[in-house]
Amino acid sequence: AAADVIEWFAEEAKRAYGRLIPARGPGIYQIAMKEPVGPVAAFTPWNFPINQVVRKLSAALAAGCSIIVKAPEETPASPAQLIRAFADAGVPDGVINLVYGVPSEISEYLIPHPVIRKISFTGSTHVGKQLNALAGLHMKRATMELGGHAPAIVFGDADVASAAKILAAAKYRNAGQVCISPTRMLVQDDVFREFVDKFVDSAKAFKVGNGLDPDSKMGSLANPRRVTAIEGMVQDAVGKGARLETGGKRVGNKGHFFEPTVVSDVPKDARAMNEEPFGPLALISRFSSFDDVVEEANRLPFGLASYAFTSSAKTAAAIGAAVEAGMMSINSFGLALPEVPFGGIKDSGYGSEGGTEAMEGYFNTKFISQTGV
Ligand code: NAD
Repeated sequence: AAADVIEWFAEEAKRAYGRLIPARGPGIYQIAMKEPVGPVAAFTPWNFPINQVVRKLSAALAAGCSIIVKAPEETPASPAQLIRAFADAGVPDGVINLVYGVPSEISEYLIPHPVIRKISFTGSTHVGKQLNALAGLHMKRATMELGGHAPAIVFGDADVASAAKILAAAKYRNAGQVCISPTRMLVQDDVFREFVDKFVDSAKAFKVGNGLDPDSKMGSLANPRRVTAIEGMVQDAVGKGARLETGGKRVGNKGHFFEPTVVSDVPKDARAMNEEPFGPLALISRFSSFDDVVEEANRLPFGLASYAFTSSAKTAAAIGAAVEAGMMSINSFGLALPEVPFGGIKDSGYGSEGGTEAMEGYFNTKFISQTGV
């Protein structure tokens, strides 16, 4: 019988990502196993309409959970087509579900609902905190992928041309409407001007226009509110003493196009230095010492992505350890790949989406101790 128990436990351990635990006495068998948490309610934003759904759906299905997706109003068609593809491929009815409607009515119904065991939300910190509070009230597990305000630190020993090129490409990707967009470029004094000039050159080279035109390098903002917000942030920064290096205005009077914008020497009390711009606005500031730049990088409540550029292995290790963020990419834009964990800390949320770590949020751990058989 003991051999049977051990064999069954070993099978369970393999099947359920579990582990056998050595017991403290003879005839006792112990296992920690993973069970799917249960049906999931997922809320996703528009900025990568398919990818944001895939990040939740893949981990939920891999862990054995069914899922209801509340997809974004701005981009309803792509999530609908994605979920239709699963249905066409034979996923049984009820496993993957899609709803649209008034967002607050959906969350207020689904989060407290006894069938739902887990909430996963990607979106702004403001909405995330509301949904997380509701989840907490009903003791539901939650994964929160929220806003960011990524510091990008360029040390004096870095390859400045490469840093400027990589950061400008990352900044203006999706017109800056990316949660891991580098926002506060923090550049060491001795290479500050060189970095600004090179970054501005890259910014100017971004051709703004219709996303369907192959020549366009940067498309429109999602809505008129973002245009007003970015305009306001630029005016506020310049009013407080920042220098406008390039951009700063909307493009044309049709759509929501905005110039790739760079402001330098931005005071810390400028709004853009504290609120997520979520648009094509790069802020470049200078620093002199390692300790100063760490203090600035960690000043905000956000902690999602961070970047650093240096040719010193010692500086790379030190900055990787010192910055409070869920992710740090050094000398490249190496985040958000399918096989690596993705997530934030502090006001940027918690939990991971990506890599095998993504599944942790969809499992409960069950411990079984067995004796006398
Ligand atoms: P948002 O918070 O306004 O909306 C996100 C989604 O939540 C939308 O589908 C919206 O309909 C829904 N929503 C809004 N209020 C709701 C409510 N009361 N109940 C239920 N659902 C509700 O964010 P947004 O403007 O669409 O996206 C931009 C924000 O998302 C930025 O802050 C960005 O940084 C963040 N974001 C974070 C990540 C990440 O992985 N950390 C990824 C992408 C975007």
